[in-house]
Amino acid sequence: MTLPAKPTVADVHELYRQGKSVLEVTELFLERIKTLDAEVQSVVRLTEVKARSEAEALDTLLAEKGLENTLQEKPLFGIPYALKDNILVEGEALTAQSRILEGYTATYSSDVYLQLREAGGVLIAQTNMDEFAFGSSTEFSGFGQITKNPYDLERVPGGTSGGSAALVALGAVPVAIGTDTGGSIRQPASFTGTYGLRPTYGAVSRWGIVASTSSFDQAGPLTNSLADNRLVFEILRAHSTQDQTSLKAVPKPETKKEFIIGVPAEFFAEGLAADVKEVFEKLQNTKFNNITFKPVSLSLSEYTLATYYILQTVEAAANLERFDTVRYGHQVTGEHGNLYTRGRGQFGDEAKRRIMLGTYTSSAGYYDAYYNKACTVREKIRREINEVLDEADALLMPASPFPAFKIGEHAGNPLEMYLADIMTVTQPISRVPALVVPGGTVEREGKELPVGFQLVTKEQHERTLYTLAEELNQ
Ligand code: GLN
Repeated sequence: MTLPAKPTVADVHELYRQGKSVLEVTELFLERIKTLDAEVQSVVRLTEVKARSEAEALDTLLAEKGLENTLQEKPLFGIPYALKDNILVEGEALTAQSRILEGYTATYSSDVYLQLREAGGVLIAQTNMDEFAFGSSTEFSGFGQITKNPYDLERVPGGTSGGSAALVALGAVPVAIGTDTGGSIRQPASFTGTYGLRPTYGAVSRWGIVASTSSFDQAGPLTNSLADNRLVFEILRAHSTQDQTSLKAVPKPETKKEFIIGVPAEFFAEGLAADVKEVFEKLQNTKFNNITFKPVSLSLSEYTLATYYILQTVEAAANLERFDTVRYGHQVTGEHGNLYTRGRGQFGDEAKRRIMLGTYTSSAGYYDAYYNKACTVREKIRREINEVLDEADALLMPASPFPAFKIGEHAGNPLEMYLADIMTVTQPISRVPALVVPGGTVEREGKELPVGFQLVTKEQHERTLYTLAEELNQ
């Protein structure tokens, strides 16, 4: 059998039913990446040695237990996948695409990796990102690698999980994991026509993931099919004693048959590209038997970006403090400066900018005016969205005001880049989950570019998102 252009978990399992070994399938996907990703540049490292040893172990298991039993036990049996370069795997290199982590080899594994391995997944690649997951375009790796959008090589795939999203969109792996602090799974999903979930805060363990903003960071799946996304989420969603914010309770099942989807006016106002808006109007004008759209209001939306960037930079500055190149980080020898300035000098511009902003807004003189106030506003934003969600099962929003932009288009203007996050910061501030599903396309310079629908619901109701997405797909 030849694989479809965008293989799913079920397609790969079909290869096993036909008698292929995990090692053969692993080699096939390693080759696939080498061919498909040559121009797009999603991958920073192939983990070939590890992949082969994981594959051989699975082949041994297969020989012992037979395929059907193994598939029962391990839902991701023999599935090649990729991790963003900020998710630790013992013995493998990791840099979060920062020069300050050059030469680092992880000394322990993230919960995310261990869960995927336990489920039968085979790690084959690590993907590109903006340094320390600051950004929205995957143009700002500290090593200069720029990932391109598979739909138009002159455009960005979104960020900061642009490497994971583009690799999935290429059909080079069925599953890749990203992280989302303020949109880094959802905006790339929208730009690449993939499914991307930002889980409820605490649903997926942060153990072994390089911290950007500890109170916002969540890892989640990027996939080409809704079923695969759900499958991977159910594997990642597990309590961990290694992460104090890890939730114990399991997500609520979805048993309802009739749904109300709220459409917050503020997310469809000025600034949203007219043709993107049309994609949403088309959806709302579609007749569904069991879905009603209803206008709602999130009146605090104008404060979300400011709140996000104050909280984000304060936590990022605190998290980056450990990279002093004495305790952590790559030491630089030389004549200029001192050990500390040479070491910290390796941070890219965006990391430095965030350290300065976060240090300023949390300093003794400004703490009350900025950080403390942002903490208060955060609670108000969270309360408002939950009140609106008392009256609706989910909310529908864009994941970006426009489709994929050109490489370099916003690169010189950090504020413009921050403004692009307007659709994806309310959810982390409110801790709620959000799923992006492919919605349609818009044309730019003769190229059809994907636009995603973002569905948002209450904490722990991911299953509602999947049920609704299934309805919308039909
Ligand atoms: N663009 C946002 C930021 O730069 C979100 C990044 C992310 O989710 N990691 O903070």
